[in-house]
Amino acid sequence: MSSSRYRGRFAPSPTGPLHFGSLVAALASYLDARAHGGEWLLRMEDVDTPRVVAGASDAILRVLEAYGFEWDGAVMYQSRRGAAYQAALQTLQAMGLVYACACSRKQLAETAKRGIDGFIYLGTCRERPPSADAALRLRVPAERIVFDDRIQGRVACDLASESGDFVLKRADGVFAYQLAVVVDDAEQGISHIVRGADLLTSTPRQIVLQHCLGLATPSYAHLPVVLDPVGDKLSKQTLAAPIDPHRPLPAMVQALRFLGAPDVRAVGSLAEFWAQAAAAWPGAIRPLRGRRPV
Ligand code: GLU
Repeated sequence: MSSSRYRGRFAPSPTGPLHFGSLVAALASYLDARAHGGEWLLRMEDVDTPRVVAGASDAILRVLEAYGFEWDGAVMYQSRRGAAYQAALQTLQAMGLVYACACSRKQLAETAKRGIDGFIYLGTCRERPPSADAALRLRVPAERIVFDDRIQGRVACDLASESGDFVLKRADGVFAYQLAVVVDDAEQGISHIVRGADLLTSTPRQIVLQHCLGLATPSYAHLPVVLDPVGDKLSKQTLAAPIDPHRPLPAMVQALRFLGAPDVRAVGSLAEFWAQAAAAWPGAIRPLRGRRPV
């Protein structure tokens, strides 16, 4: 595959320092891009400004640099992309696909069933007049989304019954991750997405938005999620230990082993690590193939 066809990315949320789970996503997306002669772009997903931690973006960039990741082009910051998200929202509004929803979380908790990711919203506010200070939701089309994930295999989702109409812009004015990520993946020309399987339930919502906005759907590969010793996903919210910016090698070797290259040797330098990782990569993704959808 030529470099003009493969463009990958890593898109951390600066809500805390980089932890081992994010390192796995960074490493896999990077190695896959380079194995295809492709580019690897970086995007700071700081759209949810109330959750952004001061200094986290810079700290993440410094760790990636210290670990020897080399990204192509300038880093994109979602906090500067409001106009693009607003334009996409207006396109959807002009198509009659957006409505205001004034339901509180408490109301949803009392009435709605849980779906693939949060509550299933069955369109209670669809016919209500627009109100200020309300969230904006996408009227989800009756369309079954099916895609072939490079790792998880075929994934199918009936969004209307499994997720329902989802939020594009919150009542506090913050654009939702689902909208921002679709607009930005298109803007950055991303052809291949490699990320954690915790985002697998988001992908059908992103594909439906791509369909509505007339955007191409990238290829997806969702990596197994790294779990902590009690079986929970490692995340910044659960305060997973940050990776050590000064000792890249142990974490990188562990990440490559997690990705399915058990024979990785402990090495003495980052250059040796990267050479070994590039050689291991085509083999590393294979054991992950054919896993059952999560
Ligand atoms: N910002 C998201 C996260 O850190 C990742 C989004 C994505 O890769 O699409 O979990």
